Amino acid sequence: MSYDYDLFVIGAGSGGLASSKRAASYGAKVAIAEGDLVGGTCVIRGCVPKKLMVYASNFSHLYQDAIGYGWSKVEPSFDWNKLVTAVDKEVRRLSALHIGFLEKAGVELMSGFAKLVDAHTVEVGDKKITADKILIAVGGEATKPNIPGIEHTITSREMFLLKEQPKRFVVLGGGYIGVEFACILNGLGSQVTQIIRRDLILRGFDEDVRGDIQQAMIKHGINFLLNAEMDKLQIEKTEEGLKLTVPVGEKEETVMADAILCALGRKPNLENLGLENAGIETVKGAIVVKDDSSTTQPNIYAVGDCTDRINLTPVAIAEGRAFADTVFGHIPRYISHENVASAVFSQPEAASVGMTEAEARAKFGENVKVYRGRFRPMFYSLPDVDEKAMVKLIIEATTERILGVHMVGKDAAEVIQGMAIAVKMGATKKDFDATIGIHPSTAEEFVTLR
Ligand code: NDP
Repeated sequence: MSYDYDLFVIGAGSGGLASSKRAASYGAKVAIAEGDLVGGTCVIRGCVPKKLMVYASNFSHLYQDAIGYGWSKVEPSFDWNKLVTAVDKEVRRLSALHIGFLEKAGVELMSGFAKLVDAHTVEVGDKKITADKILIAVGGEATKPNIPGIEHTITSREMFLLKEQPKRFVVLGGGYIGVEFACILNGLGSQVTQIIRRDLILRGFDEDVRGDIQQAMIKHGINFLLNAEMDKLQIEKTEEGLKLTVPVGEKEETVMADAILCALGRKPNLENLGLENAGIETVKGAIVVKDDSSTTQPNIYAVGDCTDRINLTPVAIAEGRAFADTVFGHIPRYISHENVASAVFSQPEAASVGMTEAEARAKFGENVKVYRGRFRPMFYSLPDVDEKAMVKLIIEATTERILGVHMVGKDAAEVIQGMAIAVKMGATKKDFDATIGIHPSTAEEFVTLR
C-alpha cells in the first residue's frame, strides 16, 4: 500500500521538530502539522520566553549588589511593555528559524490542527492525508480546577501577553511554573504572594533544595500562604482588583491581586485529536506508550508531554530522535528516563540529578551517606548579602556510587549539567575526591566535600 508520506507528525514543538528532521535525514518523506506558531510550548510560551524574563528580573538584584563593588547607586526604572515586546520579537524570530530548519531538512509544514481519521489517515482542515507512520507530539496544556472565579486567573501561556505588569501578583501552586514566575515578578518589583497546599514548595525535589529556595524567596520579599485549603479558594472581581479568599489554618486569608497565575499542573493536550478513531489508548489522560514510544496502534508513535513520562523539552527531543533513528535510520535504541537532570530557574536557581535523599533512604535504607555544604558564595561578600548556596551529594555507602547531586545557587543548571554526565557514567565519591577543583568557584565545593 502506498501512502502520501512515510511519516506524518502532529505538532511542531520540540519533540515533533526533532523527530521530523531526523526522520527526513534518513530519506523519509515527512510532513508536520501545527495549528499555532511553530516551536511549541518551549519556544513560544515556555522555557525560552520564561528564561528571558528570568534574565530581566535578575538585574534588580545586580543593581543592588553592584554598590558593594564600588558602583554608584542608581534608581533603575523598568518598562514591562518593552520587555514583553522584545521577548515576543525573539520568540517570533526563533519560530521563523525553526520553519527554515524544516525547509532545509525537506520536511513539509502544514498549517492547521490535525485530527486522526484512522490508523493511517489524518485530516488537516478539509484535507485528508495518508501516512505509513504517524507521530503524535502535541504537548500539554495547563489545568485549572473548578473553583469559583477561576475564570479570572491566567495560566503561564498568558503571562507573556499581559499588557501591564501586575503590581500585586498571586501565584497558585508550588511547582516549577509557580516558583519561577513568583521569582520573576518579585525581581521585577511586583508584590508577590504564593499560595500552596503544603508547607514546602517543589514537591519531588530534595528537601534541602525545597527549604533553601523557599527561605531565599521569603528573604527576597515573597509572601507565602502555606497549607492553604485550595479547594475552598474563591476569587471575585471587584473594583479594587481580584479578591481572593482562602482558608489557612483557623483563619480566612484575603489577598487582592492584579493578576492571579494558576500554576496547578499540566495535562496532555489530547482533545479533538481523534485518538479513538485510530485505536489509541490513554491512561489518566496520557497516551500509553511502550519503551520505543509506540502506542497501542503499532504504526503510531507518541513523544513528549502528551505521554506524560518526564515533561521536559530535552526528554521530548531525545524520545523523538530515538524514534526516528529506530524506525527510519534502522538504528534501534531506547532512551533511558533515569538520572535526567532538571533545573528550577528560581532566584536562587536550583538543579538536581538523580535521587533525592528521601528516595535514596527509601531504596537503600542505612546504606546511604550524605555530604552537604552550605556557604555564602564569594560574589556576595563585598555587597554583604545574606545569600547562601547549597551543594549536596547522596552516596550509596558501600559502593560509594553517587546516587544524587543537588545544588541551590547561581548557575546551578550549568553546574549540574556536567554533574549529570558523571552520574550517568556511574561516578563514585572517590572520583569526585580525585578531581581537582577550579578555584575560586562554587562548583569546586562538589569535589572537596567531606
Ligand atoms: P507541577 O506539577 O510542577 O506543580 C503543580 C503544583 O500545583 C504543585 O505545587 C501541586 O501541589 C499544586 N497542585 C496541583 N493540584 C492542586 C490542587 N488541586 N490544589 C492545590 N494545589 C495543587 O506543575 P507546573 O504547572 O508547575 O509545571 C508543569 C510541568 O512543566 C512540570 O512538571 C515540568 O515538567 C514542566 N516545567 C519545567 C520547567 C523547568 O524545567 N525549569 C519549568 C516549567 C515547567 P503538590 O505538590 O501538593 O501536588
